[in-house]
Formats: sequence, C-alpha cells, structure tokens
Amino acid sequence: MPEALDYRLPSRATPMPSAAGLRFSFEFFPPASPLAEERFWRALRELEQFDPPYVSVTYGAGGTTQERTLRAVRRILDETSLAPAAHLTCVGASKSEIQRIAEGYWADGVRHVVALRGDPPKDSPDFTPHAEGYAFAADLVAGLRQVADFEISVAAYPEVHPQARSADADLDNLKRKLDAGATRAITQFFFDPDDFLRFVDRARAAGITAPIVPGILPIVNFKRTLEIAATCKAAVPSWLCALFEGVQDQPEVRDPVAVSVAADLCRYLVARGVEDFHFYTLNRADLTAAVCRLLLCEAFVANDLHGHAPVAARAAG
Ligand SMILES: Cc1cc2nc3c(=O)[nH]c(=O)nc-3n(C[C@H](O)[C@H](O)[C@H](O)COP(=O)(O)OP(=O)(O)OC[C@H]3O[C@@H](n4cnc5c(N)ncnc54)[C@H](O)[C@@H]3O)c2cc1C
Repeated sequence: MPEALDYRLPSRATPMPSAAGLRFSFEFFPPASPLAEERFWRALRELEQFDPPYVSVTYGAGGTTQERTLRAVRRILDETSLAPAAHLTCVGASKSEIQRIAEGYWADGVRHVVALRGDPPKDSPDFTPHAEGYAFAADLVAGLRQVADFEISVAAYPEVHPQARSADADLDNLKRKLDAGATRAITQFFFDPDDFLRFVDRARAAGITAPIVPGILPIVNFKRTLEIAATCKAAVPSWLCALFEGVQDQPEVRDPVAVSVAADLCRYLVARGVEDFHFYTLNRADLTAAVCRLLLCEAFVANDLHGHAPVAARAAG
C-alpha cells in the first residue's frame, strides 16, 4: 500500500512558496477589451497570493501591443505591490524608439525587462529587422544595458529555436545574451521534462551559470496549444493528444486533466532540484493556481514543514 499523503496545511491560507523553497512567476498578455481587462486583473489578483518575484506582461507579435503592454505594466506598478517584468521586442522598431520605450519604463519604475527578438507579424513569416533596429535579442540586451541597470531576462529553447542553425549555435546565442547582460533565461514551454533537464545540462557544460527557469504551460485549449507548438516546434507527445482527445468542450474534464499534466511535469522537475517555475497563464488563474497549490502542499509534506504554525495563525500573532 502506498503511504497516504498528509495534507496538514492551513485550511484557508496558502503557504508561501518561499517557505517551501519554491518560486513561481507568472506571465500574462495585455488585455485588449474591457472584458479581457477585467479577467486579466482577476487572474493577477488571484495569483498574487503566491508572492511571485515578478509577473511578466508580453509584447504582441509584430510589436502590436506596445501601448497595451505599457498600460498594463503601469497599472501593476500603480495598483499592486507586484514587480512587473515588461517584455520588449526588436520587431518593427528602430534602436532609438526602443531606447525611448526603455527610458519610459525606467522612469515609470519598471526594473525588469524580458528582452526578445520577437516574432514577425503573421502576414510576413520571416523576421526582417527594422532598417535601424536590432537584429537579435543579444543586441537588444546590450542596448538596454546602455539605458539603465535593468534586470534582464531572455528566452531559451530546450527543443532549439526553429530558426537556429543548430542546437549548439542556439546555445551560443543564449550565452551571448547572458554575456551581454541578461541575468536569467526563461524557457519556451515543453512537455517532456527530460528535454528541459538535458538542455540545462548542456547549458552548464557550455559554461552558462545563470538561472534557467522552465516555462510551464497549463493547457487551456488543446487545439490552440497544438497550433502554437507547431509554430515554435515544441514536441507534443502522443499520450498528451490521447489525454485531451474529445474533451476540449468539456471543461469539467479538460481542466483537471490540464492541472494534472502540468503538476506532474513540475513534480518531476522539483524532484530533480528545480525550484523556480514560470507559468504561461494565458490570463487564466485557475489552472495555474491549482498547480501551485499542489506543488506547495507536496513540498510542505516532503520537507516535513507542516509542523509550522498555519500562515493565518502566524499573521494573527
Ligand atoms: C519566455 C518567452 C517569452 C516570450 N515573449 C514574447 C513576447 O512578449 N512577444 C513576442 O513577440 N514573442 C515572445 N516570445 C517569442 C520569441 O520572440 C520568439 O521565439 C522569437 O522567434 C525569438 O526570440 P529570441 O529573443 O529568442 O531571439 P534571439 O535570441 O535573437 O534568437 C532568434 C534566432 O536567431 C538565432 N540567432 C541569434 N543570433 C544570431 C546570429 N548572430 N546569427 C545567426 N543566428 C542568430 C537564434 O539561434 C534563434 O534561432 C517569447 C518567447 C519566450 C521563450
């Protein structure tokens, strides 16, 4: 008989990730309508309980959401105690325009930028840099370093970026981004945790010492996930297709399956020493919150931390 799990945890309060030795950060996209805005804020507030070191806000493909990204980031600064990380891409902007945006971020109090080359607009699939712009994220990182002392995160690809000449060339590129002044890599999503672990091993062997944070995608919509995975060449295992087959329109089945898949992925990584996780929330808090709660409860049990006074009791003195 397997030993029963003992979830002796505070019944109402969520344990803090730091007490469990874990850190969760969350990615959102900037809302495009009043309804989406409401959902974005609800999700952000719901996930605030996990005390994220930062919450990041994407910059639309083709540089399309610049204003919305700025607005969302400013509101996070004004109305919450969260630290926003503003995504910034090279797409469609000259170096001086990017400098102006970065200066505006710094003046507003943004201290963390996720620096990316960006994806081109849908109607022109090949990336063509702006005539007076940055061609690659490494150049953007160097440019941002000239503007201010930002904390800079960059993208990494456990399954290799689709336009890379080779896996080694892609790793060299990650190293260039870090050498240019980035301090952390956040990965593209993946479904085989060994892809991530092998990638980290290769990066360490190549002399990369910066944190490499796994990007975790709790699956909100499987069909859409397949489309995105095809674009960024992330492998979708056949067992995953089987799990979601026929349940896309049954949220009461689909959502627990999505939570279970993401939690299993994270558990595997936690068991191998991973402590930081970056969740692609797609502006939905429920799936990500469920995964975080499971991981925290399990970490508390595994580390025998449940003898601690419940968070609520400690807060009350
Ligand atoms: C965590 C994360 C967040 C993201 N957020 C956004 C977002 O907000 N908005 C958005 O539009 N996209 C976003 N993306 C997607 C990203 O913009 C795309 O994956 C894009 O195609 C590559 O961006 P990059 O910063 O990795 O580019 P780079 O690091 O510049 O690499 C792009 C490609 O060029 C190659 N390369 C780099 N330097 C050279 C060189 N000197 N010579 C030849 N080849 C080179 C690399 O190997 C790679 O194949 C995100 C991705 C991740 C993982």
